[in-house]
Amino acid sequence: MLRDAVRSLAEAKIAPYAAAVDEEARFPQEALDALVANDLHAVHVPEEYGGAGADALATVIVIEEVARACASSSLIPAVNKLGSLPVLLSGSEELKKKYMAPLAKGDAMFSYCLSEPDAGSDAAGMKTKAVRDGDHWVLNGVKRWITNAGVSEYYTVMAVTDPAKRSKGISAFVVEKSDEGVSFGAPEKKLGIKGSPTREVYLDNVRIPADRMIGEEGTGFATAMRTLDHTRITIAAQALGIAQGALDYAKGYVRERKQFGKPIADFQGVQFMLADMAMKIEAARQLTYAAAAKSERGDADLTFQGAAAKCFASDVAMEVTTDAVQLLGGYGYTRDYPVERMMRDAKITQIYEGTNQVQRIVMARNLP
Ligand SMILES: Cc1cc2nc3c(=O)[nH]c(=O)nc-3n(C[C@H](O)[C@H](O)[C@H](O)COP(=O)(O)OP(=O)(O)OC[C@H]3O[C@@H](n4cnc5c(N)ncnc54)[C@H](O)[C@@H]3O)c2cc1C
Repeated sequence: MLRDAVRSLAEAKIAPYAAAVDEEARFPQEALDALVANDLHAVHVPEEYGGAGADALATVIVIEEVARACASSSLIPAVNKLGSLPVLLSGSEELKKKYMAPLAKGDAMFSYCLSEPDAGSDAAGMKTKAVRDGDHWVLNGVKRWITNAGVSEYYTVMAVTDPAKRSKGISAFVVEKSDEGVSFGAPEKKLGIKGSPTREVYLDNVRIPADRMIGEEGTGFATAMRTLDHTRITIAAQALGIAQGALDYAKGYVRERKQFGKPIADFQGVQFMLADMAMKIEAARQLTYAAAAKSERGDADLTFQGAAAKCFASDVAMEVTTDAVQLLGGYGYTRDYPVERMMRDAKITQIYEGTNQVQRIVMARNLP
């Protein structure tokens, strides 16, 4: 029922704008409005904080179905979870109450600030600093590649509080867009997910009350990594949705397109491509849903499974969208058809929340 509801909404209110959002590289406001109106913008927020209380599998299905229509728009529910999960996993009751209610209502979005210009795969090498000053912390530094920066009201920011301790000297904070000293860089000009703003976040002597620290001092990096264990599954869901969207479009196209006097769907070479695409998608789906169940239960092997789902589903999305372009021939290569957008959008799922090389490092360190 949830899938049907999200699919109908996505087809009616999100898909019609997907091409324009990409072409104009603009924020998908129509999608945000539709998701908020239907309480689908941050479904993971527990009921006790005013949210819909969706479990990890339901959250995955929402993201998958939105991504099937528009990958950029699927970053609204996905990054709302990514940004706010550190607070839900490690934050004080006061922080949860304060920040989850506006998120659940749709009055505010949440971003996640881990990466920096010189600290990507090696996120613990970050330079952003937080220095204690009485009952405040003062933050200085640059966060890079921040999804929904400028649009979000709230930012989970990881910063160094004790440089001698490397990853154990990193703490997490909630920073608000309106805090003095917060500003944003120009939107990045990207290959895909062009509707999702990606900007630098500048922290220039940002002074915040000490109770905005998420969890204990020195636990920020552990919280950041624990968050990714759960949210990599949402990237797998995004990849899955993009791939399904491309397969569905290609399936319709090959029945219509005629060459050699018959629909190209009649050729076994075309049928085998579609069969492989569907097979890979289904394998990715099962891995992703199993990982979502593990996320919900907090199983011990979640780290491996989350990395495996993200890595596998994103590689499938890249293969399937590339094959969809192939099935449309020259038409697939043009912006008159949606599959080239899907191919460009798929690429990011192999890169963010840890590249697929990093996922393999994570899996190798956590072999079942
Ligand atoms: C559109 C977009 C949105 C993003 N959104 C966010 C966000 O909201 N919040 C956030 O914090 N970050 C975000 N990111 C950052 C993203 O997570 C990083 O780009 C990613 O982790 C890779 O870091 P990097 O770009 O510095 O690449 P690098 O770490 O410099 O990697 C370059 C290459 O080297 C490889 N490599 C690096 N180390 C190793 C190794 N040990 N073994 C093998 N290969 C290795 C990588 O796999 C990659 O192929 C976003 C990025 C993009 C492009």
